[in-house]
Amino acid sequence: MISLSLGHLVFGYASGLVVVLLLLWLRREFFRARREGRRKPRALRCALCGTLYENPTPEPLPACPQCGQRNERLSPSVI
Ligand SMILES: [Zn+2]
Repeated sequence: MISLSLGHLVFGYASGLVVVLLLLWLRREFFRARREGRRKPRALRCALCGTLYENPTPEPLPACPQCGQRNERLSPSVI
């Protein structure tokens, strides 16, 4: 039979709890990042020259390929 002290049991329980909480946090961050990646629209319309273009990068203000103006992403209903 394996004999464990109370200190070892508490340490094992706390370690297991930390690992479970870490895995839950990583899972939540993974799904949050995936959700935000999906939410970001790819299509943009340049506020300066009116060019409609796509930018799949996660950059918040992608530059227009025609004039270089940095533009905000449009919601899919605007396009
Ligand atoms: Zn432009």
